[in-house]
Amino acid sequence: MTVSSGPQPKPGILDIKPYVPGAAKVEGNVSVHKLSSNETPLGASPKAIEAFESAAKSLERYPDGAASELRQAIAEFHGVEADRIVCGAGSDELLQLIGDAFVSAGDEVIYTEHAFVVYALVTKANGATPVVVPEINCRADVDAILERVTDKTKVVFLANPNNPTGTYLPFAEIERLHRELPSTVLLVLDAAYAEYVSEPDYQDGTEMVRTAENVVMTRTFSKIYGLAALRIGWVYCPPFIADVLNRIRGPFNTSVPAQVAGIAAVKDQAHVAKAKAHNDTWLPWLTQQIGGLGLEVTPSVCNFVLIHFPKAPGKTAAEADAFLKSKGYILRANSAPGLTNALRLTIGLEEENRAVVDLFRDFMGVAAHE
Ligand SMILES: *Cc1c(COP(=O)(O)O)cnc(C)c1O
Repeated sequence: MTVSSGPQPKPGILDIKPYVPGAAKVEGNVSVHKLSSNETPLGASPKAIEAFESAAKSLERYPDGAASELRQAIAEFHGVEADRIVCGAGSDELLQLIGDAFVSAGDEVIYTEHAFVVYALVTKANGATPVVVPEINCRADVDAILERVTDKTKVVFLANPNNPTGTYLPFAEIERLHRELPSTVLLVLDAAYAEYVSEPDYQDGTEMVRTAENVVMTRTFSKIYGLAALRIGWVYCPPFIADVLNRIRGPFNTSVPAQVAGIAAVKDQAHVAKAKAHNDTWLPWLTQQIGGLGLEVTPSVCNFVLIHFPKAPGKTAAEADAFLKSKGYILRANSAPGLTNALRLTIGLEEENRAVVDLFRDFMGVAAHE
């Protein structure tokens, strides 16, 4: 950790482990397949790319800080009220704004064992105490969350479905969690992967936000929409919370290229359907193939799978990671605290998925002969 005798940051900030993004490069001269950051293998909608390119003609102009047209387009597609949407530079910014607005030093913030890493960041940056709740088989446990609620609890962050585990809670469980939470606790439903989920007992939380005062749902254009580079996301809020977030966000927190690409993307649902269909083919295939090699795969409803490795020397996640990297395939190691012997694999193109399975087969086979 760095130390300085000069200006000191707020308490908590130096407890944050700097975020390590999914790797994008490997040593040597192999072609690189980045399957480490849950990006879509199909790329962005061609219409979004066109809109992005057209934005290059007037870069001297400030954006519409309220992102009105984008909010309108989102509202129309999702059947929600545009004035209850706030856009941000990725849903990460919105999670941070929620922390800035609602979390103070001394508060407690609840999230689960293998939760998305940004929740810890937001909690510590605001000097609050993280309350980390055990999961059952890499799935959030509503009873365990509720047991940890105290009068200091300010926010519960829950990704549904969760990254990096890929698991989800049926909506009845979310409803039970909400019902039992004090009305002063903000429940943040992070639905970054909602578009990928087909399970009939899943809901993204829209209906709950519509009728409750203490629930928000965050969404992103980074995943199925393929606009991660542009940093654009949104949150659907009760009116009071939208008002609070609008007061503290940067006046121009989303860029013109991101806004226009987002509008084109949300209107091109055919492209989204294509990405979903691709995932529906390859998620079960990868789960089954990798599982068939004697590796444990957590059942996922997302565009990635979490693969658990044996502890035996020669077969660990770190060794698999090094082997795959030497062949140009980058997976995500250490995707959450406590997942040191697992790798997260993003669903890729058909050739990539087939190649990864072949490499895992080699890896397990090679190790078995040692
Ligand atoms: C990727 C991801 C996000 C953040 O995405 P942005 O690129 O900041 O919009 C949020 N939550 C989860 C669970 C994610 O996996």
